[in-house]
Amino acid sequence: MSKTEELINLLAQDKIITAEQLVGLKKLPEYKANPEAALIKSNLIDLEDLTKFKAKVYNFNYRGLIGAKISDQALNLIPAEVAENYKIVCFEAAQGKMRVGLVDPENFKAIEAIDFLAKEENLQPEYFLISALSFETALRHYKTLGKEVSQALKTKAEEETLERVERKINQAEVEEITKSAPISKIVSVIIRHAVEGRASDIHIEPMQNESRVRYRVDGILHNSLVLPKSVHGAIVGRIKVLANLKLDETRMPQDGRIRVNINNKDIDLRISILPLLNEEKVVMRILDVTKGAPTLEQLGFMGAGLKVIKKSLTKTDGMFLITGPTGSGKSTTLFSVLTSLNEEGINISTLEDPVEYFVRGVNQSQVRPEIGFTFASGLRSLLRQDPDIVMVGEIRDNETAELGIHASLTGHFVLSTLHTNDALGAIPRLLDMAVEPFLLGSTLNIVLAQRLGRKICQYCKTEHKLPEDVITDIKKELAITPPAAIKEMMPDFDLKKMKFYKGRGCTRCGLTGYIGRIALAEVLDINDKIKEIIMNNKANLTVDDLVKNQNFITMKQDGIIKVLLGLTTMEEVLRTIHVN
Ligand SMILES: [Zn+2]
Repeated sequence: MSKTEELINLLAQDKIITAEQLVGLKKLPEYKANPEAALIKSNLIDLEDLTKFKAKVYNFNYRGLIGAKISDQALNLIPAEVAENYKIVCFEAAQGKMRVGLVDPENFKAIEAIDFLAKEENLQPEYFLISALSFETALRHYKTLGKEVSQALKTKAEEETLERVERKINQAEVEEITKSAPISKIVSVIIRHAVEGRASDIHIEPMQNESRVRYRVDGILHNSLVLPKSVHGAIVGRIKVLANLKLDETRMPQDGRIRVNINNKDIDLRISILPLLNEEKVVMRILDVTKGAPTLEQLGFMGAGLKVIKKSLTKTDGMFLITGPTGSGKSTTLFSVLTSLNEEGINISTLEDPVEYFVRGVNQSQVRPEIGFTFASGLRSLLRQDPDIVMVGEIRDNETAELGIHASLTGHFVLSTLHTNDALGAIPRLLDMAVEPFLLGSTLNIVLAQRLGRKICQYCKTEHKLPEDVITDIKKELAITPPAAIKEMMPDFDLKKMKFYKGRGCTRCGLTGYIGRIALAEVLDINDKIKEIIMNNKANLTVDDLVKNQNFITMKQDGIIKVLLGLTTMEEVLRTIHVN
C-alpha cells in the first residue's frame, strides 16, 4: 500500500471523510496527480490537520509553526538559502537538541542536510513534519533584526562606499548621513524589534571598536546587535532629528520624545542622550501609551498584602506610599491603584516624570525642572486646583515631603513613591526630611515596598531541585513568616512536600525560561498601633513590631511563597531583593 493510500485509509478510519466523500474525491481531476491538494480543495480537512495525519503515516512528530516564536539562535542553525532549498526550518535548539521541521517527508536530501548541519553544531537532530504554510511563516523569521540591519548596512556601504578607516564624522557629514535611507531604516528596525520583543528600553552605546545595541526585556539587558563604529554618529544624529534635539550639541545631555506607530499602536519613546568621552550614548525608554495599567492581581499582589492595599483605598485622605529602587515597578503599581480609584465625581491630578501611562479623566502633568516646574512647585499649584486625589511621582526633598503631608492632612488622598530599600525604611527617611513624627503618624496609611521578579515561562516550566543550603534558607524564612499569611497564600502548603520549578527555555521565552514579571512585595499597614509607635518617636520600628500586630510578611518571604507557588525562582528572589 502506498503512503497516500495509507493516509486516505487513516482519514476514513478516523471518520474524517465518509465513503461517499471518498468516491466524490476520487472523481476530481486533480486527485490523481495530487490527492492531498484535492482533499484540501474539497474542504474535507484543513492543511494543519492533514499534516498531522500525514505525520502519523510517516512516523514523524507533527508541529504547527504558525504564530510560533522562533529564536534567532535556533533559526540561524540553518542558513536561509539551505532552509529555502530543502524546505526545512530549525525552530528550537536547546539542551543538545536541534528540532527541525520539514515539509516533504520523502525528501531524503533534506534529512541528509539536517543531519549534516546538526553534526557540525554537535546537536542531536529531531525531525518534525510541518505544513507548507507553517514553513512559509517560519521562513519569514529570517527577515529579523540582524538580517534586516545587515541588509540596510550593505545597501549603505554600496551607496556610499563607506570608508572603513576609523575616523570622526564631522557635523555636516552627520546631517548628510542622517537623511540617508539606510540609516533611518536601521533606526526604525531597531525600534520596531524592541517593541515586538517586549523590550522596555533600548541602549545604543559607543564601544571601543563598535556601536552596541542592547534591549532590556523583563528587566535584563540583552546584547542584541553590534554595528560598525562608523555608523554610530549617524544613528545618534537620526534619533536627534526624530526627537527634535540639537544636532550640533554633543557636550551636553539632551532629553526628548519620539512618537511612532508600530503595528497600529502608538508608542512613545522617551529619548535620553548622554555625552561620553568621545561619543554620545542613547537610551530610549519605550512607553506604550495605548496600554492601560494592569490590575493589582495581575501585577502579582495577593494574600494579606492585597487586602491591606484594598482597605487603604477606601479612605479619602492620608498617604499611600510605594518604595523601591528604580525599575522595581513602583510607577506601574501606582497607576494600577490610580486606575482603580478613578471614577466620575473625583478629581485626580498627577505630577509625573515622565508620564508613563495615560488614564482617561485624570489630569496628568509632566514636571519640567529645567523651567522651575518641579514636584514641589507643581504640587503647590496643583493643590489650588481642588483635587480629591493627588499623585506626586516621587518625594525627593523636604519641601515635597512637607507639602504632601500637608495635603493629606487637609483632606486629600496623596499617592507617591520614595527611594528606600524596604517599607520600614520610609519612616526614618521621611523623619530625615524634617517631617514631624506626630504629623507622619497621623497621615501615613500604608507603605508598600516592591521588586519585580521574572516569571517562569509556563510553556517550558519544569520541576527541579534546589541545593540544600538554599532549601535550609527557605525553611528558616518560612519559620519566621506569620503562619496565617502562609495559609492565606498557600492553603494546601506542606513543608515536607516542597516543590521547585524553573523554565527549561523554549522558543516562546527566547530560551531564557522566563516571560513577564511578578511583584514581590511587602505591605505595611499603618494601623493604630503603628501610628502610636511613630508618633511617640520611639526608636526605629522593627519587623518584630509589625509581626506582633499584623500579618506582615517581608518581600523575601513573599518571594519565597511565590517560588513555592511555581511563579518565579529563588534565583530571581535573591537577585532582585539583595538580602541575606
Ligand atoms: Zn519557555
